[in-house]
Amino acid sequence: MQTITTIKEMSGRLEAFRPEKRIGFVPTMGWLHEGHLRLLKTAKSLSDVTVLSIYVNPSQFGPGEDYSLYPRDVERDHRLAEEAGADFIFLPPDEEMYPPGYQTWVSVDELTRHLCGASRPGHFRGVTTVVTKLFNIVRPHLAVFGQKDAQQALVIKRMVYDLNIDVDIVMAPTVREKDGLAVSSRNKNLTPDQRRAAPLIYQALQKCSKSIQQGNRDCARLKKMVRDMITDNPLLQIDYVECVDLDRMQPLRHISASALIAVAVRTGTVRLVDNIIVDI
Ligand code: AMP
Repeated sequence: MQTITTIKEMSGRLEAFRPEKRIGFVPTMGWLHEGHLRLLKTAKSLSDVTVLSIYVNPSQFGPGEDYSLYPRDVERDHRLAEEAGADFIFLPPDEEMYPPGYQTWVSVDELTRHLCGASRPGHFRGVTTVVTKLFNIVRPHLAVFGQKDAQQALVIKRMVYDLNIDVDIVMAPTVREKDGLAVSSRNKNLTPDQRRAAPLIYQALQKCSKSIQQGNRDCARLKKMVRDMITDNPLLQIDYVECVDLDRMQPLRHISASALIAVAVRTGTVRLVDNIIVDI
């Protein structure tokens, strides 16, 4: 595995593999965990050469968010990515990605209005901009994103379609801890009490899924059920609980086809997201 830090070298090294080899790409912010490694595995199974990027992108964090607290450990990430069989790690410094005078942004409108787009203004503009830049540098045939951040994966899908970027977007399932908590780099910042409380999030989503299977289609009732179960623990504060369609990500009143039930919860300095997709 080779570690590359400049844009010039990254695009140059990949040139040697084109056009015969399929290049698979997994963008991450590091502090690698099982979720990232699963995406890498998926990318490896679908391509010949895999690139994993690690970049804590400042432009997707708002003022007062956890940019400075975000866990970082390049050596550990290096070891895990190597063990998982990545061919390249791309680790650009901020000066490479946002040189002085930088002023160009990519944004997706409708799909970013709700859920994390509403509670983190500017977040998706940062994500879509950095992902566009990374796509232009790596020029992958396919890129893998996790369902844990389903809105992000759907926004990127829309963006590559709208901007005619020739890359297949694959969404891989959410990897969970044994107790159901979605694996996340941010889990590292949970106190023991917060960590004990956090599995309630997925338990509430599972209860919601069961209720839908039993015929409950009313989103207000479903959302209340999820909200009540989570707020039962005073350490967990709801940011949002929403029920949206998968095409336009607009809030639904009734579930009549496939839907995304998404939750964001704050506990201390940490914000956790999770979701389920239901298909009836
Ligand atoms: P991050 O490093 O948190 O920006 O995540 C990088 C990629 O890993 C994104 O596509 C995430 O959706 C994905 N990811 C993060 N956690 C998980 C998880 N528990 N299961 C599956 N994918 C994940």
